[in-house]
Amino acid sequence: MLSLRPLYRFGLFLIGMALLLQTFHADASNATTVRIGVLAYRGAEAVQEDWSYVRNWLDATIPAHRFVLLDFDQAGLTRAVREQTIDFVITNSGHYVALENSDGASRIATIESPWALSPRQSIGSAIVVRSDAHLHTLADLAGKHVLAVGADAFGGYQIAARELLEAGVDPEHDLADLQFTGFPIQNIVHAVRAGRADAGIVRACLLEQMIRSGEIGAGELRVLAPINTKGFRCQTSSRLYPDWPFVVLRHTPAELSKQVAIALLRMPRTADGYSWTVPADYHVVDELFRELKIGPYAYLRQWTFEGLLRLYWGWLLLILALLVAWAMHTVRVEHLVSLRTRELRAAQEEQHRMAEEARLRQSTLDHAARLAILGEMASAIAHELNQPLAAIRNFARGMARRITAGRLEPAPLLDGTGEIVAQSERAASIIRNIRAFAQKRASEQKSVDLIAVLGEAIALFCGTHPQAHVSWQPDTTQTAKVMADPLQIQQVMLNLLKNALDAQQTAGHAHEPIEVQFRMEASTYRITVRDSGCGLEPEQFAHLFEPFFTTKPEGLGLGLSLSKGIIESLGGTLFAVANDGNAGLTVCFSLPEEEPFGGA
Ligand code: ADP
Repeated sequence: MLSLRPLYRFGLFLIGMALLLQTFHADASNATTVRIGVLAYRGAEAVQEDWSYVRNWLDATIPAHRFVLLDFDQAGLTRAVREQTIDFVITNSGHYVALENSDGASRIATIESPWALSPRQSIGSAIVVRSDAHLHTLADLAGKHVLAVGADAFGGYQIAARELLEAGVDPEHDLADLQFTGFPIQNIVHAVRAGRADAGIVRACLLEQMIRSGEIGAGELRVLAPINTKGFRCQTSSRLYPDWPFVVLRHTPAELSKQVAIALLRMPRTADGYSWTVPADYHVVDELFRELKIGPYAYLRQWTFEGLLRLYWGWLLLILALLVAWAMHTVRVEHLVSLRTRELRAAQEEQHRMAEEARLRQSTLDHAARLAILGEMASAIAHELNQPLAAIRNFARGMARRITAGRLEPAPLLDGTGEIVAQSERAASIIRNIRAFAQKRASEQKSVDLIAVLGEAIALFCGTHPQAHVSWQPDTTQTAKVMADPLQIQQVMLNLLKNALDAQQTAGHAHEPIEVQFRMEASTYRITVRDSGCGLEPEQFAHLFEPFFTTKPEGLGLGLSLSKGIIESLGGTLFAVANDGNAGLTVCFSLPEEEPFGGA
């Protein structure tokens, strides 16, 4: 990189020697050796030639130490850093960033080259091709034979590799052949000129240098896809990166580092235009490493299943264990759920069976209760049927007398037969009602008009109990729909009316009115049956709804307990309260209004 003009070099050497001699007497015996490891990209001799001005300057300005330049290739230099056989390093930016990441190296100065735009924009790559080659863009290199210095060469490969990658050509996979030639770098240029390769990656300015020195002719080769950076004297195929740094190592004594840093910054510019300045920002090199997944980012290449396995086997094992545990837990939960479902289904079936049994029992009881009511009502029924039969008999006799007397006018005869028909229909309707009531059948719920059903029950009761006086003035314009079995409602109503009449008979005033009231409260219908009968003793209240509780000689004691069961099965309530002064009893029952849209 550097070639000092011999005269200047000699002058500098003399100054250095003079300074050295001045201090030699005092310190020669004490001078310790400080080793500067240098990347020998142009060979061992070039190191001494290129960097002696630095060594001389440091020797001259820090006389307590003797500085020596040791040349290494990149691998050797890295080894020397790790073995701590050197104190300082001068190397390219790429190698420095790698050392910074792996070995804690840090820069104390960056070289200022005469051609650089700035210390930050100094190093680039040029991809050289023959001038007559049909290659114009970086993408044209796909499938071509390309030469480079080495995989770890910064300007001689890595910088260009990043540009190729960004142009869509992965240098590791998309080239026909990528060949690393090693040093000297000039061989690459010669090989491309000779047609042994399609292109060669070299550090920027090499081509211009070789043309200047006459090694190759101008116009034989050109730089591919050149970026002409204003103010930069060479053509590059890449962006520019920071120049070489002067590097201290972890084990370098701090005081010595400080002295060297000060000396470098104070160093006058050489005749060739080189000097040292404050360290540049090497972040851009880090970016390059990340894009190429090399150096500190080499691990990014391991994102394969195998790489992941190697890196995270512990975590993977843990995740696997968690998955297995989760799967086992799921299977267990599934098993428990299916077990519980089976149990629930069995319980449900049992419940249905019991409900069905209860329903059958209930319907048998209902039937028995209805028959009991009928039994109690038998004499009243006979009396009720007697009336139309007697009327029929009378009309028939009257008509027979007329026929015997020869009074055969059609009008009275027709009146008589009409009456006979009407009375026989009345008797038939009584029998129909009683048969329907006595029928044994399963209860069936449907939407019924409660007022109408109650009216029918009252009519049946009054028809069969002429001595009873039921006061019932419902609002017939009102509709009161409930979901129920109308026969069951009638059964309840008949039972309550019968009890009320019995109680009033016991009290000796059967003819007093039994008040039946109908009210709507919120979404509930409330029916009360109030009598002025004998009422109940307080201790009897406790047993009122118990089955077989009766105070009547012929009673079964089932009516109220069955009625309560019926009303509660329809979602209602049934209860009794004593009237004030124990003047009879009021029995109430309620039923919920049918839900709209047939919700029940
Ligand atoms: P039963 O009428 O066959 O006795 P119930 O279950 O209908 O059976 O009635 C049980 C008992 O409750 C009756 O025997 C009677 O003592 C009493 N009871 C029911 N209703 C009334 C009422 N309105 N007034 C007074 N006592 C009543």
